[in-house]
Amino acid sequence: MKFVSTRGQTPALGFSDAVATGLAPDGGLYLPETLPQFTAADLTRFAKLGYADLCFEFLRHFATDIAPETLRALVNRSYTQFAHPEIAPIKRLDENLFVLELFHGPTLAFKDFALQLLGNLYEHQCATRGQTINVLGATSGDTGSAAIHGLLGKPGTAIFILYPDGRTSPLQERQMACTGADNVYAIAIDGSFDDAQAALKDIFADQAFRTQHRLSAVNSINLARVLAQCVYYLHAWLHLPADKRNETEFVVPTGNFGNVLAGWMLQKMGVPIHGFKVATNQNDILYRLFTTGDYRVSSVAPSLAPSMDIQVSSNFERFLYLNVGRDSAKVREVMETFKKTGGYKFENFNRDTFSASRCTDTEIPGIIKSVYDRYGYIVDPHTACGFADLSKDRPSIVLATASPAKFPETIRAAIGIEPIDPSLERLKALPLKKHLLKAEPAAIRAFIDQHAV
Ligand SMILES: *Cc1c(COP(=O)(O)O)cnc(C)c1O
Repeated sequence: MKFVSTRGQTPALGFSDAVATGLAPDGGLYLPETLPQFTAADLTRFAKLGYADLCFEFLRHFATDIAPETLRALVNRSYTQFAHPEIAPIKRLDENLFVLELFHGPTLAFKDFALQLLGNLYEHQCATRGQTINVLGATSGDTGSAAIHGLLGKPGTAIFILYPDGRTSPLQERQMACTGADNVYAIAIDGSFDDAQAALKDIFADQAFRTQHRLSAVNSINLARVLAQCVYYLHAWLHLPADKRNETEFVVPTGNFGNVLAGWMLQKMGVPIHGFKVATNQNDILYRLFTTGDYRVSSVAPSLAPSMDIQVSSNFERFLYLNVGRDSAKVREVMETFKKTGGYKFENFNRDTFSASRCTDTEIPGIIKSVYDRYGYIVDPHTACGFADLSKDRPSIVLATASPAKFPETIRAAIGIEPIDPSLERLKALPLKKHLLKAEPAAIRAFIDQHAV
């Protein structure tokens, strides 16, 4: 299987190269050259598999440059750190309401599904190519900790995560800075998240430095992340009651469009999912797109669901490419206009099987309370956005993207109870090791020079 860029101006790559490259040289994102088509017989066979075996059966269609038994072992390892035997269990709250719990991984948010796998893919690449890799990213929370836990202690790798000192939640900081692993550098920047990102951008623009340290970016556009995320949609569809699954709408709290894109791609592979609801917080670029056809940036207003606080939905480009019949000239036109003018107005926007909802910060605590009062179930502030506007006509499955235990203050304010997770309690007792740096590219470069593998 080859992978092509959405901008169509760079050669197709095999799986391992596309994963290692991240952003394509022409500025596009990688997608499979063709999507496999799963038949009813495939789906019947898949229904008998456990999560890791299902993931292997799915990924083998894409990762064709990795020997099957190697891939199987790598996938198996990727799902050993999950605290629930079903990995992605479904809870039924009501006749027509389900929750897909995606927070049983090591950092208690759905990003573990992809980043545990990506960590093992990087390790595999280091081993087969005899090279080391240094991973660099900036985070305001979940991505950094999930990436760190994907690479924890992996030989041949080091990971440097920049975050704004004092501005992530204390638990998120502990997830990054209390691992005790020698190859992990939690770097607290004296500045804002934007300062951290600006420094990062400067460093990645330095081609010589980048090559010297074989720097790789942690971001939401890596091909492996999207493919790993397809698997929990497949697993969920297979485990919904048979009389419901073709009717059920998947409701996905989203910001970068990464999560929901994976489900939609799976639908395009022949899995008869009814449709998707894009559930945004008050940073609602996707809600506006799917309701009006206007894709337009606005400023970010920090919210109670911070991992969805985005200005631009970077994975939207993949949807666009597939949705306009793989017309990369059209993609280039849209993305260039968008870059120049901050927006693009689609004339006849084809929203396919998507609907959309949005949820402001004033609504989130009330939703947490009403879900708790009605079902005795506690949702985190991101998941709460999925409950904002549920369909009355058909079954819904809401993707729970983080554990409520990660957001104790918000939950306490809403229902007077603090949810507890034993793994987070353990963290509170561990020594914190963070590196304080100025938000200056030179200081960060010097640090990387000193610690890179
Ligand atoms: C990252 C994240 C999201 C948003 O995911 P996208 O890939 O941007 O759609 C939602 N909820 C939580 C808890 C997250 O960590």
